[in-house]
Amino acid sequence: MVYSTTLEISTSAAEQAVDITLRVGGLVRESGIANGLVLVFTTHTTTGLFLNEHEGGLEKDVQGVLARLVPPRAGYLHDRVDDNAASHIQSVLLGPSLVLPVTDGRLDLGRWQNIFLAERDGPRRRTVVVKVMGERS
Ligand code: ZN
Repeated sequence: MVYSTTLEISTSAAEQAVDITLRVGGLVRESGIANGLVLVFTTHTTTGLFLNEHEGGLEKDVQGVLARLVPPRAGYLHDRVDDNAASHIQSVLLGPSLVLPVTDGRLDLGRWQNIFLAERDGPRRRTVVVKVMGERS
């Protein structure tokens, strides 16, 4: 079976990593699916999703690396349209989705793994699609 829903997330800064692990885990439990996969997918072109440790220094490190790799206003063509090319390109590097295991009715992540929505052009209201696919127990 497939359980489909969305998460609405209001970001509060231009660049931010929002931990959505508890919310996704809650939807997995709500789905009643015991074994399968959960797809987490951002519907925006200036956000990304990544999996990593929830530690403040590391979050700043990731932000810093993204900014160094793709600095703002570095002569991008898209900046002529709406001045946010760096946000789009950083989102390309992060990717729009994660597929994660569901085992025994729970999100089956490693001890230090958390799900982050990476805001690259906020603050905005964002929608993340969550689809839990698998078999009920
Ligand atoms: Zn744009």
